[in-house]
Amino acid sequence: MNYRIGHGIDVHQFAKNRELWLGGVKLSDEDGLLGHSDADVLTHAVMDALLGALAMGDIGEHFPDNDPKYLGANSKELLVSLWNKIKKDGWVLENLDCTILAQKPKISPYKNAIRESLADAFGVEIERISVKATTTEKLGFVGRTEGIQAEAVVLLRKIDL
Ligand SMILES: [Zn+2]
Repeated sequence: MNYRIGHGIDVHQFAKNRELWLGGVKLSDEDGLLGHSDADVLTHAVMDALLGALAMGDIGEHFPDNDPKYLGANSKELLVSLWNKIKKDGWVLENLDCTILAQKPKISPYKNAIRESLADAFGVEIERISVKATTTEKLGFVGRTEGIQAEAVVLLRKIDL
């Protein structure tokens, strides 16, 4: 059997009067993240993990942040379109494991909604999707509430089409 593993990481800084999107779920209208797209830091990390697994480069090459096409883009839609391409080549998602590093807001009330949203993007059961969250004990840029970091690991398996 043919397996590929990939890791992705992304960081965005907080900005006033921006929506906060994580994994395709909207958490807030006030303290969002700065970015050319909707700045969904978790979805970006997941996309980079997928690209990494298949040695396809990184998200900046596929979705340049100076391309007007992606201004205000819905990152979950970009993830779905990327996944559909990968799926066509015969890859299935074994599992996805994510970690959100955020001092604020509290992520735990949203964890299940985020899992559901990512399971929906991949068209898989929620059991294949893990979403964890941690603060950094007030250390570093995350701890100073300057931004949010997200990391993701994916395992893909090739099937015979
Ligand atoms: Zn990003």
